[in-house]
Amino acid sequence: MECEICGSKIVGKKYTIIVEGSELTVCERCKELGIEAKPTRVVVKKRVSKTPKPIVEDYELVENFHEIIKRERERKGWTQEDLAKRIQEKATLIRKIEKGEITPEKDVVEKLERVLGISLREKVEEVKIQKSKSITPTLGDVVVIRRKKRS
Ligand SMILES: [Zn+2]
Repeated sequence: MECEICGSKIVGKKYTIIVEGSELTVCERCKELGIEAKPTRVVVKKRVSKTPKPIVEDYELVENFHEIIKRERERKGWTQEDLAKRIQEKATLIRKIEKGEITPEKDVVEKLERVLGISLREKVEEVKIQKSKSITPTLGDVVVIRRKKRS
């Protein structure tokens, strides 16, 4: 092994230094010419700890989807059983969704949207726009307004 700077044979310990971005194996005398590199490179991947909002494809469920479902259901005068029957799901599922205990599957979300005549999803960009507004209506109201505009 020869020193990559002075070219002399490295006797004993060799050093890995970084000179202008490239790694060089050098002798003890030359190690001062660069920054000593760490003997082993440990790449620690940061684990993303925060849980993102539930994402249904490129849509995000609105933050208070469970409140909207409950409110819209009650507005129609339906019990949880009534709603469950209409979307062919179990009433326990509705109960859990309304409590915010579970995030409904995409097909359930679609069925709920259909029978309740609401939208529970928003495109990610739309959420960002919404947050920048100074006057913030509740998400539920926004959903209803959008729905009316669309149809
Ligand atoms: Zn050297």
